[in-house]
Amino acid sequence: MQITVLGCFGPYPPAGGCCSGYLVRAKKTAVLLDCGNGVLSRLRYYLEPWELDAVVVSHLHSDHTADLFILRYALQFARQRQKQGEALPVFAPAEPKEEFVRLSYKEYLQARPARPGESLQIGELEFSFAPGVHAVPANIITVKSGQQKFVYSGDTEYCPQLAQAAAGADLLLCEANFLRSDLENGGRNHLAAFQAAEIAGAAGVKRLVLTHHHPERKPEDALQEAGTVFSHVELAYPGSSYEL
Ligand SMILES: [Zn+2]
Ligand SMILES: [Zn+2]
Repeated sequence: MQITVLGCFGPYPPAGGCCSGYLVRAKKTAVLLDCGNGVLSRLRYYLEPWELDAVVVSHLHSDHTADLFILRYALQFARQRQKQGEALPVFAPAEPKEEFVRLSYKEYLQARPARPGESLQIGELEFSFAPGVHAVPANIITVKSGQQKFVYSGDTEYCPQLAQAAAGADLLLCEANFLRSDLENGGRNHLAAFQAAEIAGAAGVKRLVLTHHHPERKPEDALQEAGTVFSHVELAYPGSSYEL
């Protein structure tokens, strides 16, 4: 399994940056995990959007979905050139309902619910979902291929489900939108870097990658905060890639 970071900022990007998007591949299978603003242009460095097998969306906030509303035009073009056959499935939480129904587009994109507790086979990749704690329903996503296990936090505040899902993972890609000081100032809905590190330690993960960097803070500050708790930690950056 190979994971490539396309975009790693949230809830909005810095100059030249993109919001959440990660390409997950195994053999002939290619799945896009989240599709925030700017992700489509980065995706095209690696493959064409009509070559995707599916999109899996952690939750229905625009920094994770915005480029789906542009991707639809690429799929429409592909269909007209006979490059795409079936509608591309987009697995996402079914709430908020008005956001969910907006994901489907004619015969090109088809939204399908991804509920906590469910699992799903897409080609070589097995996906399963656990509930995060966020402003809207949000999934923690586990991806397995053979013996390899990759866990993506999506957006969530501290919750026991994340450490449970991440138990023994080869890679935990975890949001760290906050620093400890943000939590102390009443920040909600996201993790501070030290919490991501505590979860990685409790779950016994092999490697922790911090993502969902806030555009007004230095990612290196998050790395430093997490590094005091868990040593196998690094920062996601556009184009960073992980082979499991
Ligand atoms: Zn976000
Ligand atoms: Zn969010």
